[in-house]
Amino acid sequence: MAVTRTFSIIKPDATRRNLTGAVTKMLEEAGLRVVASKRIQMTRKQAEGFYAVHKERPFFGELVDFMISGPVVVQVLEGEDAVKRNRDVMGATNPADADEGTIRKTYAESIEANSVHGSDSDENAKIEIDFFFNEDEIVG
Ligand code: ADP
Ligand code: MG
Repeated sequence: MAVTRTFSIIKPDATRRNLTGAVTKMLEEAGLRVVASKRIQMTRKQAEGFYAVHKERPFFGELVDFMISGPVVVQVLEGEDAVKRNRDVMGATNPADADEGTIRKTYAESIEANSVHGSDSDENAKIEIDFFFNEDEIVG
């Protein structure tokens, strides 16, 4: 299995509850290494651009409002099969459906305020990493 990268966001519901370290610990314990990390306040324009793929979905406006409601921590994660490894430790989108031991089961407040984002494919991981990071900010 190849070492690959994925993109993660610790969302405002988690930063608000001071869970940056707790969430990162679960990522690290799942075999992922944080090779880039920064805490930012997303602009509306950034959030709309990042979630453009969801712009036709009924929750788009609320999702953008939520993602700019407080700081987020954007991260690049590296590990074997990083996209799947991260999705596995994140758990299902709706915490009510998430498996025990996952980040969303442990910490998420709701289907919207679900603590973490993770890329869903290698292709999207690259696009999402490039959206927030320059290559010289990523140190493996
Ligand atoms: P995931 O984050 O698990 O990849 P999606 O890509 O389908 O899930 O959705 C992106 C984000 O939009 C979710 O993480 C969640 O914050 C929000 N979201 C998804 N579905 C809903 C919904 N039915 N109602 C409100 N917010 C939602
Ligand atoms: Mg998604």
